[in-house]
Amino acid sequence: IKYHVDKGWYEPQVEPYGPITLDPAASVLHYAQEIFEGMKAYRYDDGGVGLFRPEANARRFNASAKRMSMPQLPVDLFMESIKQLVSVDKDWVPTQAEASLYLRPFMFATEAFLGVRPAKEFLYTLIASPAGAYFASGPKPVTIWVSREYTRAAPGGTGTAKCGGNYAASLAAQAEAIENGCDQVVFLDAVERKYVDELGGMNLFFVYENDQVIYTPKLGTILPGITRDAIISLAGEAGWEVREVDYSLDRWREDANSGALTEVFACGTAAVITPVGTVREADGDFTISKAQAGKLTMQLRQTLLDLQHGRAEDRHGWVQRLL
Ligand code: PMP
Repeated sequence: IKYHVDKGWYEPQVEPYGPITLDPAASVLHYAQEIFEGMKAYRYDDGGVGLFRPEANARRFNASAKRMSMPQLPVDLFMESIKQLVSVDKDWVPTQAEASLYLRPFMFATEAFLGVRPAKEFLYTLIASPAGAYFASGPKPVTIWVSREYTRAAPGGTGTAKCGGNYAASLAAQAEAIENGCDQVVFLDAVERKYVDELGGMNLFFVYENDQVIYTPKLGTILPGITRDAIISLAGEAGWEVREVDYSLDRWREDANSGALTEVFACGTAAVITPVGTVREADGDFTISKAQAGKLTMQLRQTLLDLQHGRAEDRHGWVQRLL
């Protein structure tokens, strides 16, 4: 679907996958005026296909658009684009447990203009790709690298938006994590370099089983994850107290070493829930629960998977069947 400031949204169409032609002066290529979402279509046991909290993705997309001076995409247009693509590609929604059709809605500035100002023309597009189970043989605790040099999001910046520029800025830290033998990078807050923000593409939870309390970094500069939000509700309903706080790296290290911190997990649409085993810093490693996947981590993971794949009662109205 195209957008022009004077015309609004126009020319919606579904077309075969292929290259997009852009003017070399298209402002997205120079100033990165671009946003996206990541979501999945799930196959149900009866052969049907559905989505998990798609309106939450639509709302976050518009929040990102606002931050990036881009037009709002009406929720019904967003939903319609997803319904149309999934119905065309329905045979590509995998049937294996934990597999899904990954959906990537995105919008970018197409106006050919080299001055620095918000563009007047945009393209909204949606592509899809089958995604296998994230883990071949059950979730394996990941090792994560603490980025001391790079931060992801400063107050007043674009951390809460899902825009390509955030990920561009995170690549050097991700490369550093890989060089240090880690799967993921964890970012600290940009002001004090003390509090934990999030991973490159996942939010974090810290479980204290003896207190029945779970901590998670509060919203502000991090991406408001839809999986994060679901976990806060599900854990609360399961009798845990969930506190959204400033959680420091020092506390993480001390409580992991003392054993008070019993589980840490990361969550997001791609991996659902991933146990965190070892944390690596330039001056040494520390490990949570002998790097074993924890009980609550695995329980919440199963609860979420069952909901997403339409196998559990949907008491929250999160599941939306399409076919
Ligand atoms: N943080 C970042 C930086 C991400 O890219 C993602 C993935 N969208 C998340 C957190 C998790 O968000 P969600 O649960 O909505 O996938």
